[in-house]
Amino acid sequence: MIKKILFLGPQGSGKSTQGRLLAQFLGLKYISTGDIFRAMTGEIKQILDQGKLVDDQITSKIVKEKLKDKEFKNGFILDGYPRTVEQINLFNPDFDLVIYLNLSDDEAIKRLLARGRADDTLDAIAERLRNYHNQTDPVLDYFQELGLLKQIDGTGSIDLVQQRIRDAIND
Ligand code: AMP
Repeated sequence: MIKKILFLGPQGSGKSTQGRLLAQFLGLKYISTGDIFRAMTGEIKQILDQGKLVDDQITSKIVKEKLKDKEFKNGFILDGYPRTVEQINLFNPDFDLVIYLNLSDDEAIKRLLARGRADDTLDAIAERLRNYHNQTDPVLDYFQELGLLKQIDGTGSIDLVQQRIRDAIND
């Protein structure tokens, strides 16, 4: 039984939309570190505006505390954590499955500019994609080694991508 799912993908890949849909379908709670940080002010907001990652220690501590909540005891889809190897070492939820939504940088930039969120300036987008590949590719390698990784083509309509994910889970 799949209860703990990690969702990863570059910004613009649709991972929060797809994560929410899958959570509904499987009856799991959805939780996103991006949502958590976007609700914060001050120093954290500045870090997000610059397209940087929040400090590993702070991030791991927040996620660890959140997941202790009883609403997550029957499982969850965690969108966006861990995103660095250091975070894996600090706190590693015992995932049953890792889904990576694959999208080219060009396609990601096109989608992000179209969505026009406040933290989506071109500079911030480019910085986030660079950070993303540098820091998160080793995380993908780690879960690939464990045999937990499923790579999903993130192009196409929301429905099409969701269907690909459901098909991959049933494999
Ligand atoms: P997202 O919505 O997943 O693109 O996340 C938005 C922003 O939140 C990222 O650009 C980071 O600044 C921050 N963030 C989200 N998840 C993490 C994480 N696991 N570690 C560090 N920063 C994160």
